[in-house]
Amino acid sequence: MTQEELFKKLIAHCKEYGFIFPSSEIYDGLSAVYDYGQLGVELKNNIKTYWWDSMTKLHDNIVGIDAAIFMHPKVWEASGHVGAFNDPLIDNKDSKKRYRADVLIEDWIAKQDEKIEKECTKAAKRFGESFNKEMFLQTNGRVLEIAAKRDEVNKRMADALNANDLVELRQIIIDCEIVCPISGSRNWTEVRQFNLMFSTQMGSVAEGANTVYLRPETAQGIFVNFLNVQKTGRMKIPFGIAQIGKAFRNEIVARQFIFRMREFEQMEMQFFVRPGEEMMWWNKWKETRMSWHRALGFGDDNYRFHDHEKLAHYANAATDVEYNFPFGFKEVEGIHSRTDYDLGRHQQYSGKKIQYFDPETGESYVPYVVETSIGVDRMTLQVLSAAYKEEQLENGETRTVLSFPAPLAPVKVAVLPLVKKDGLQEIAMDLVHKLKFSHNVQYDEKDSIGKRYRRQDAIGTPFCVTVDHQTKEDGTVTIRERDTMKQWRVSISELEAIVAEKVSMRQLFEKLV
Ligand code: ATP
Repeated sequence: MTQEELFKKLIAHCKEYGFIFPSSEIYDGLSAVYDYGQLGVELKNNIKTYWWDSMTKLHDNIVGIDAAIFMHPKVWEASGHVGAFNDPLIDNKDSKKRYRADVLIEDWIAKQDEKIEKECTKAAKRFGESFNKEMFLQTNGRVLEIAAKRDEVNKRMADALNANDLVELRQIIIDCEIVCPISGSRNWTEVRQFNLMFSTQMGSVAEGANTVYLRPETAQGIFVNFLNVQKTGRMKIPFGIAQIGKAFRNEIVARQFIFRMREFEQMEMQFFVRPGEEMMWWNKWKETRMSWHRALGFGDDNYRFHDHEKLAHYANAATDVEYNFPFGFKEVEGIHSRTDYDLGRHQQYSGKKIQYFDPETGESYVPYVVETSIGVDRMTLQVLSAAYKEEQLENGETRTVLSFPAPLAPVKVAVLPLVKKDGLQEIAMDLVHKLKFSHNVQYDEKDSIGKRYRRQDAIGTPFCVTVDHQTKEDGTVTIRERDTMKQWRVSISELEAIVAEKVSMRQLFEKLV
């Protein structure tokens, strides 16, 4: 099965089992907008808890807020979003499809990396045991040629984006002979800038009403509350403010399911530091955030950093944490050193002093900011793609399983009476009522036990508990573990503690401190 087929199956699986539905589906959906179903919302909430608690509970100098989506329109002038929150777009005249010019070029660059990988695979076959990849990459003429071209294009793109040179961006597309994936033609329009903010009117009548924006990032709610939180919380620098909330972007090309949406959720943390110490903190947060991802156990090699060549107007350093999605390595999180740009601009635009008096140095200054910014939906997609597996069993059957880390699983335990008689259902229901105070529990009595196990595997439930006739005799049940499919008997009195230990977020948090 190709990665593309796997991804299609995952999307179908998400719908079939109640994780994610297209928005307003009975009206044929709304492009790049999705709804979370009964299991999707549980998974997403668990991811949010993992993030929120790791920020606010594990760090005594990070607190949270929940700011409104609507903000004073001046906020977005000060932040630079009105003037500069643009994507360069280009249309193909034959297919009438619209693309982001930079994404077309980035895809071309990724293809060069794939070509290099292919050369390596070929050479590895040819040379066998004696193959030295590093040496090959440094010396093979064909590889060096591809790499040089790739680096040149990468630099040209970064320069063009930095200089806002739209003609040059188009020229790169022409020079690289990039074709439209739909029409296959190179019949491109000019490149134009497109502002990504959604706007609406505030007030009952449009006339005289103010244009307000749906926030394109949650960060500004934190910046404008910097002094409120610092003063009322008596916070001392360095300290952080965390927030989870919706953000909206009128993305030109919405693709890859919930990877790029027009309405999505962000988990952002702004960490306020002394000027001059931002690089040290940026490096520290890179490490901290990478550990947070890796603690989930999806394989360290599936993550990498991608440092930005083109920096946003507010940043002096930026990197992405990329995950190896079925469609390649892509950004899940950004870690940005935002300097004093945002607080400085709000100070200027509001006319209010936004400074911190540092009791240790006796100086007042506008703090510098290091931010970590991750999309909840993108993280959900990351977890789903890492967890989705189709396994061939010894008896020749296949099972589809979502191997979620137990603390993130939407349902923690399923209670199943072996048969619908002899009082087994009542014992099972009693167990459900005991467990439900601590865990998300499902009761299922329909179909054979094998089928019920498969249903729970398909939604990623880490434990199934079966009540059988022996339960009536000795008060024990069978517990089955999802990934290994191992089964063993435990007494009902121990059950709650056994499940609690395995599904607790604590085991993830302990890896972080
Ligand atoms: P991209 O380059 O993919 O457009 P970005 O660099 O503009 O992303 P940031 O502004 O750094 O993204 O936003 C921080 C995080 O918010 C991203 O790492 C991503 O996880 C998430 N995010 C951004 N845009 C979207 C979107 N349209 N849909 C879902 N998540 C998004």
